[in-house]
Amino acid sequence: MSLPNITLISFGFFEQDFLEQIAKAVQAEFDFTVNIREGRIELGEYYDPARRQYNGNTLISIVDSMTFPESNKILGLFNVDLFIPILTYIFGQAYLNGKSGIASIYRLSNERYGMPKDEQILLDRTKKEVIHELGHTFGLIHCDNPICVMRSSTYLEDVDQKRQNLCHNCKTKLEIIF
Ligand SMILES: [Zn+2]
Ligand SMILES: [Zn+2]
Repeated sequence: MSLPNITLISFGFFEQDFLEQIAKAVQAEFDFTVNIREGRIELGEYYDPARRQYNGNTLISIVDSMTFPESNKILGLFNVDLFIPILTYIFGQAYLNGKSGIASIYRLSNERYGMPKDEQILLDRTKKEVIHELGHTFGLIHCDNPICVMRSSTYLEDVDQKRQNLCHNCKTKLEIIF
């Protein structure tokens, strides 16, 4: 049995340092080692011209079809506007208790909302969304604690309100899972 491992795959361009910082935060929260890989898929195939967004349901199934023998969980990181049919947009989604999740930085940057660019804020928000989606893959559902990373976020303000950590309750559930 190999050590528990998470693969973080970047689809699109991300600075190596940015990815490493996310990997570090994930590792700190779940105590899994994290591998960073570069994904190569033709994103155009998942573009919905009517919505001018990318289909999150299809993309997560593509990520889920990838196998890394050393890896228990996979998180695909994107920089495109993701949607699922029932929602206007999503920051990310995951298979509850499954192998895979996806997240996008597209709607996490200040610039998207007409505010000045801030790399640190973008990094913090991305860490939260990535950890949140991975939490789902570990079987965690949404949490009512307003600062818990498993709190659902519909708007950017929700993301900013929470921390990048699991609350005590969620942490305990996670330990039961392991
Ligand atoms: Zn969620
Ligand atoms: Zn919680």
